[in-house]
Amino acid sequence: LKLNLFLLSSVLFSVSAVAGSFPSPTSLFGLPFNEKQTGPYCSISGWSNEEASHQYHMQHNFSFDKFHMGEDWNGKCGGDTDEGYPLLAIADGEVVSVDDVGIVTGQGKRLYIRHAFPYAQNTARFMVVESAMLHLQGMGTGIVNGAKVKRGQTIAYLGKTGTGYAHFHWELRSNLFSSTPSTANPYSSVLTIGNALNYLPPSMVVDDRRNVRFLFTNNTSWTNFSPSGNAPSSTMYVNKGGELKTLRSAVEAGWIVPRNIQFKKSDGKWYYYTTNVDAHYFEAGKEYRVMSTLSGVSYGLPIPGNRFQEDRARFDMINAVKDDSRFFSFDTKSFDKLPNWHLDWELYRMEFKLTSGESTWVVQITNKADPLIRQTTYIDPVLNNWTDFIAIDKNKLY
Ligand SMILES: [Zn+2]
Repeated sequence: LKLNLFLLSSVLFSVSAVAGSFPSPTSLFGLPFNEKQTGPYCSISGWSNEEASHQYHMQHNFSFDKFHMGEDWNGKCGGDTDEGYPLLAIADGEVVSVDDVGIVTGQGKRLYIRHAFPYAQNTARFMVVESAMLHLQGMGTGIVNGAKVKRGQTIAYLGKTGTGYAHFHWELRSNLFSSTPSTANPYSSVLTIGNALNYLPPSMVVDDRRNVRFLFTNNTSWTNFSPSGNAPSSTMYVNKGGELKTLRSAVEAGWIVPRNIQFKKSDGKWYYYTTNVDAHYFEAGKEYRVMSTLSGVSYGLPIPGNRFQEDRARFDMINAVKDDSRFFSFDTKSFDKLPNWHLDWELYRMEFKLTSGESTWVVQITNKADPLIRQTTYIDPVLNNWTDFIAIDKNKLY
């Protein structure tokens, strides 16, 4: 996609206009591709279910290739062989905009769908994102403004409207009211921190929420679980007759008594959390148990896929400096990875521009054994020394 103009007037709602249109949270996110799609599009054998998309590859990534706030996915067979490929809703949601802005904008036919996920780190108790899909050939049946969609439903067809060859341009907006300033240079590798924070890497967000490792129904007795990977408690959700809540919200609603979310220490005894459970994360191999006050309540615990560590590293860096007014932008071309920096840690770095016009480096390290354990540091522009490592909240995915 050549982002000549990024005028997104159609998604500039007033707050009051959208206040009532947040969709109900959905329990899982899925990929926009059918992993077992066959037919005349682009059929490659030998793919794995574990891959993000077997017949497709990510051509350009979020904030990694010039002024590009999304991902470009393209069929492995090349050219227009993927034109007309069905695209699926990543979660239950609501269509907020369907339009055709033509060739001039470089965007063509566009579709915006709003989704929600239970998420304790969000003050609203669920995370709302907007999935933007560009260059579409056309929309699926019934896809009009205001339509409700179900996860996996065909919502559109991959196309090449507004661009030279068929591919799928996909964005995930974390700021529902954002528009990228049209004055931005589309060929610049420099992104302001403010612009970057309006978007999320869509594949990473889906990947972190598409596999539930534990799904169990509780009948007012203890249910034990032991995660095989470190899992943020912020994404554990409770389902009562289709109504979804985070653990914290479920406690607030009286579905669970706080002391009935417990963990076992090495002394073999059970303990309960004295602070909110979402201030902790579920550690691999440790034992936990939960009991609700209601019967027929089910629990789901997604474990992050950790396939998108570079995106996570970039976000950690941006988040580490976003409240420091001396920082203004970063140069995506300076992003670099040193996988062998340390036996136990991978190192990522990126150069940030300051409001003063000077530059400084921000460094993030990711633990190789547990990618949820990450730390960030930067060279203080005034003191000219590295700050102490800032530990990233393992429960806050972004
Ligand atoms: Zn694109």
